[in-house]
Amino acid sequence: MSTTSEPARRILVTGASSGIGAATVRRLRAEGYDVVGAARRADRLEALAAETGAEAFPLDVTDQAAVDALVAHLGETGGLDGVVNNAGGAFGLDRVEDADVDQWRHMYELNVLGTLRVTQGVLPLLRASAGRRGGADGAGADVVVVTSTAAHGAYEGGSGYTAAKHGERMLSTTLRWELAGEPVRVVEIAPGAVATEEFSLVRFDGDAEKAAAVYEGYQPLVADDIADGIAYALTRPPHVNLDLMVIRPRAQVHNSKIARTGI
Ligand code: NAP
Repeated sequence: MSTTSEPARRILVTGASSGIGAATVRRLRAEGYDVVGAARRADRLEALAAETGAEAFPLDVTDQAAVDALVAHLGETGGLDGVVNNAGGAFGLDRVEDADVDQWRHMYELNVLGTLRVTQGVLPLLRASAGRRGGADGAGADVVVVTSTAAHGAYEGGSGYTAAKHGERMLSTTLRWELAGEPVRVVEIAPGAVATEEFSLVRFDGDAEKAAAVYEGYQPLVADDIADGIAYALTRPPHVNLDLMVIRPRAQVHNSKIARTGI
């Protein structure tokens, strides 16, 4: 990744204050990247920064002015070589006929428009980095988007989340088409069930019993499994674009088919 003549590559990870994002910050720091971790909760980011040497930047991806401030900061402090668009989440598990319009709106704002805002903002920095580093080794820049297996199929009660994640997936697929010929890769990481401390708690509005039930009776993925996939995609040679990585627990063969046999 970095050579003696080149500074370390710098990656922005959104949603870095917990779960997959925090695991990705730890993993990328261990791999030698400079990492900027962004999310709303500054205290958690600061703790992660103290632990890993990453930089903490408080950010709400639904706030355009906040995204603009982050982009300006990145531009003034060395630019950017890659982004992991990971901030996201699900709210509710209601059937279409009972769905809460505000929850749908929030999911779209966070998962789709959050990824749009951040990606639009950092793209000029990524292009500049690819131009700077381009050369004999053909180094380029990276846009990683953490979608979900919910971006690849339906499940009962999941319509608001699956709709948003399908939208996020189309954003990332379209961007890859639009950037063809430029030295910027677009990688989609689509996890199945990952037992992170907050994802299901957020989905069920703090109901710990409902949240725990999601992961009962089988071995779900953990955040490190997804960080591992992200690190793998980022560390391929620059001419290799890993378009899509679907990562599920062995027991989960489909969004709504989980073998709860204890393994
Ligand atoms: P998580 O632990 O709930 O983490 C979500 C992260 O997003 C947190 O750091 C949260 O931090 C941040 N976030 C939420 N709203 C934000 C906002 N408006 N602006 C900036 N950051 C915001 O969930 P996770 O399991 O790690 O999920 C990470 C990603 O993977 C999400 O995109 C999720 O949809 C996707 N995913 C998860 C699973 C799963 O089973 N866990 C499966 C497939 C895909 P703050 O609250 O501090 O802002």
